[in-house]
Amino acid sequence: MFDKILIANRGEIALRVIRACREMGIASVAVHSTADADAMHVRMADETICIGPAPGSESYLSIPAIISACEVSGAQAIHPGYGFLSENARFVQIVEDHGLTFIGPSAEHIRIMGDKITAKETAKALGIPVVPGSAGGVATVDDAKRIGAEFGYPVIIKATAGGGGRGMQVAKDDASMERAFMTARSEAKAAFGNDEVYIEKYLQKPRHIEVQVFGDGQGGGVHLGERDCSLQRRHQKVFEEAPGPSITPEERAHIGGICAKAIGEMGYSGAGTVEFLYEDGEFFFIEMNTRLQVEHPVTEAIFGQDLVREQIRVASGQKLSFRQEDLTINGHAIEVRINAEKLPKFSPCPGKITAFHAPGGLGVRMDSALYDGYSIPPYYDSLIAKLIVHGRDRPEALARLNRALGELIVDGIDTTVPLFHALLQEKDIHTGEYNIHWLEKWLEAGGLD
Ligand code: ADP
Repeated sequence: MFDKILIANRGEIALRVIRACREMGIASVAVHSTADADAMHVRMADETICIGPAPGSESYLSIPAIISACEVSGAQAIHPGYGFLSENARFVQIVEDHGLTFIGPSAEHIRIMGDKITAKETAKALGIPVVPGSAGGVATVDDAKRIGAEFGYPVIIKATAGGGGRGMQVAKDDASMERAFMTARSEAKAAFGNDEVYIEKYLQKPRHIEVQVFGDGQGGGVHLGERDCSLQRRHQKVFEEAPGPSITPEERAHIGGICAKAIGEMGYSGAGTVEFLYEDGEFFFIEMNTRLQVEHPVTEAIFGQDLVREQIRVASGQKLSFRQEDLTINGHAIEVRINAEKLPKFSPCPGKITAFHAPGGLGVRMDSALYDGYSIPPYYDSLIAKLIVHGRDRPEALARLNRALGELIVDGIDTTVPLFHALLQEKDIHTGEYNIHWLEKWLEAGGLD
């Protein structure tokens, strides 16, 4: 096992990893930008190193700065968290070339899954059902129209190098294809430096269902059920739950079994998430994330497992501490993402927290890096806290969410908390009847008014 781990991240996820390290008796090294000198992850870590100025590109994304910090501190392994360098195959290669351990899968597996076309081909070859669509990249508008006709409109044009919901456009018919195609390409070029796009059948009312997997790196794989992350705004998740309200135990065993077998066959190591769209009882693979997800706590809650601890164990060459047959679901968990944003436009709202109180009590977990007097810097993601509740069943989890939101105090800035208060008034949220379009439609219909 490692003696010291460096965390190449910030905010709540850096804190999450520090907590796992401390429980395992491993020293933690926090890196930070100059803007984060007073951040909670810096206060909580055993050692801290400033790695550069405020912009992420000069600090949390600076590979030389992070490798040097590792060498200076004597850390043997790097946990990347999510975002930043977590899915950067080149970084993983460099980490390994320096004789350090990356806490995550191999550079090769990250590369395969980072290119969405290769990812889809790999998934298909491993027996995972995929969304019907183009075989590979689509280079011209004429080809795009041919594919629209072949699969039937509407179709979605997606960036091969995509992520974070960017570079996606829907074409309803031949007439709208040209514009959608060109827009997707230019967005992809701007966001990812790669304008290759591919085309999929656009599903009209799917749910977003993702399967949590773990590979032991030696041919073994297990799954920890699914999360439903259908409540999205601009293709970004805001509310996640496990288990999925629409998924039966048989469906879970079926799709989970396929994913676990696939990652075993790949020789995959560590945590991963296989994302699907689910419609009319069918699962369609869209992508695999080769890292810990923001929403991992709902899975931890219902399985009673510490996923970060398992990541560290697997990376150090130890076995997973559970087998498939050890994993049983206990109750229901929900996470809401609290962003420093002003409603109803969701405009970023960094600033100073003048009062902060985290909710507590049975079945409540708050993962945040906030404290009284903390100034949220304007340079990074607007996620400032995740509130996770766990109950014996879904109604209890919803009631607990309502109670916990009522206890939460974040003064001085605007947050997305009122969105969740409003959602809890909606019947569809209580019946669990929503798909990936529900939230956008509700917002358009004045849900927040
Ligand atoms: P990203 O990597 O940018 O997050 P994904 O491929 O995971 O992109 O898709 C993100 C979201 O976009 C999905 O959860 C879903 O809401 C929507 N989406 C993606 N592909 C399709 C599709 N074929 N049909 C309908 N919606 C889609």
